[in-house]
Amino acid sequence: MTTISTNLQAVGARIATAAQLAGRAVEDIRLLAVSKTFPPERIREAALAGQIAFGENYLQESLDKIAALRDLGLEWHFIGPLQSNKTRPVAEHFAWVHGVERLKIAERLSAARGAGRPPLQVCIQVNVSGEASKSGVSPADTAALARSVAVLPNLRLRGLMTIPEPTENMTMARQPFAALRDLRDALNRDGLELDTLSMGMSHDLEAAILEGATIVRVGTAIFGERQST
Ligand SMILES: *Cc1c(COP(=O)(O)O)cnc(C)c1O
Repeated sequence: MTTISTNLQAVGARIATAAQLAGRAVEDIRLLAVSKTFPPERIREAALAGQIAFGENYLQESLDKIAALRDLGLEWHFIGPLQSNKTRPVAEHFAWVHGVERLKIAERLSAARGAGRPPLQVCIQVNVSGEASKSGVSPADTAALARSVAVLPNLRLRGLMTIPEPTENMTMARQPFAALRDLRDALNRDGLELDTLSMGMSHDLEAAILEGATIVRVGTAIFGERQST
């Protein structure tokens, strides 16, 4: 067995344990393998071990990998910061975008996706802990943005995404995830139909699953430490 398939099994076991602890069905939690900075050969290894969904942050790098791995029929998620001049290739080559934080970006993604394809699945990134350095819309502005994005024709608003500050403490780690879930639940009470909470990474996926994560985005625990960025 390769290291990557062993790591995928270990991450799968962590997800299953956390789901059980949370009293949730393990099928309700998807693993997104974050493959940024790793070459196509490593992604191919993960795909051979059964992994289908991959997350990428850097546009040019990801387009090269998507082209190199076209034969595998993988599902690509763009999870990096997105500038408005990069929306077209993202709308064309990805199935999901997790980091929408401005209406203008969502409008451009919708226009570039066009009507002939399945809608682009999107999440709004929320800065739940309110740090000035973090990207994402503020909790207070999330409802207005969500309502505007939800009516765009070629997108389907699936839910919310967040990247909290790392912390060692489980109780502290759960707080921002609980806040994101509460925000999603409030939007659903207001008539939206959001089924996705994209939250939890290698170091905090258990805390995220306990608070309702439906997609965990895991890089290091699958592919190993990244060299840069
Ligand atoms: C890099 C990255 C991840 C994966 O982080 P790990 O700590 O390596 O699991 C998840 N989400 C986003 C948005 C990332 O940029």
